[in-house]
Amino acid sequence: MSIRGSILVVGLGGVITLILLGIFYASNQQHFVLYALIGLIVVCGATAALLWSIRLERKAKRLDELDHLKSEFVSRVSHELRTPLTTIKALTRLLLRGGVGEEKQREYLETIAIECDRQIDLILNLLDLSRIEGGVYGLAMERVEAADVVTSCVKAELAAAERRRHKLQIKPFAKIPPVCADPKVLRRVVSNLIENSIKYTPDGGLITLSADVNADWVALRVTDNGRGIPKEDLPILFDKFYRGCPASHSAVSPAALDEEFLEDADVSGVGLGLYLARDVMGRMGGRISVETEVGEGSTFTLHLPIWNPERCGKVPSEVKENAETIAGG
Ligand code: ADP
Repeated sequence: MSIRGSILVVGLGGVITLILLGIFYASNQQHFVLYALIGLIVVCGATAALLWSIRLERKAKRLDELDHLKSEFVSRVSHELRTPLTTIKALTRLLLRGGVGEEKQREYLETIAIECDRQIDLILNLLDLSRIEGGVYGLAMERVEAADVVTSCVKAELAAAERRRHKLQIKPFAKIPPVCADPKVLRRVVSNLIENSIKYTPDGGLITLSADVNADWVALRVTDNGRGIPKEDLPILFDKFYRGCPASHSAVSPAALDEEFLEDADVSGVGLGLYLARDVMGRMGGRISVETEVGEGSTFTLHLPIWNPERCGKVPSEVKENAETIAGG
């Protein structure tokens, strides 16, 4: 029965019951009790049917949404896999044809290497997603020097930052204690945050990594002066497959928001980085938070527990909802 039909039956049943009850009270005739009871049963049955239809309709809507999300995701992933492959294929053909100067050869090979890295990143993210969803995501928690992670990630991302004429720097920080984390996982999270800052900051931006200690935590921050994230997107920022776009009211210079920036091949992605970052930070007993202002930039902070031999590795069995967003920071 449709929701509209159920509402009609419930309404009609209710009205008939009330009328019968009214007549019963007025005339004091016994057989009206029976009609009133039948009416009540009809109302109860129709109410149950109504509730059931609402539930089914909600489920169907959710399934539709998921189906839509899945199709969008599959097409996005296909695009993300095809684009680098097309570049790799074209450049390899050029190189095979020969007659390419040494400098150009080097440039082509560098591009091929970059495109391969992009594909590997995507595949690693997809593998992580499937492990998380399959409940088989494992961590190797140990004592990690967070400063070393920051330094090595910055080194690895320097070339990518230079290609966009960004300044990527580490703000000098006092000695910070070791943290409890899976070093490989932490490196991927930090790299992902730097890559996002590179992607979502107009050319010639400033990206700064900093660190400080508070109570039992070490905070690692990635700050950029990029396009920022609209306030209304903050509740879904860490959701699976969320991908934003620059706000129309962004204060970023119009030149930065021109088509070149929006359609730049570098603004690639499938909306998994922040979702995975939040999930794995929770598994490592830490959390991720963001402060952002449209047109001003964003600061993503990773809060990691200071290393403690007794507690390290004893991460909560259930990953908490532990992302925090602060707009206008
Ligand atoms: P992806 O980069 O693949 O889209 P992420 O999960 O890493 O996926 O990021 C989700 C979205 O969050 C991005 O599409 C972008 O809109 C927004 N975002 C992430 N980092 C930044 C940043 N530093 N500045 C502005 N927007 C960002």
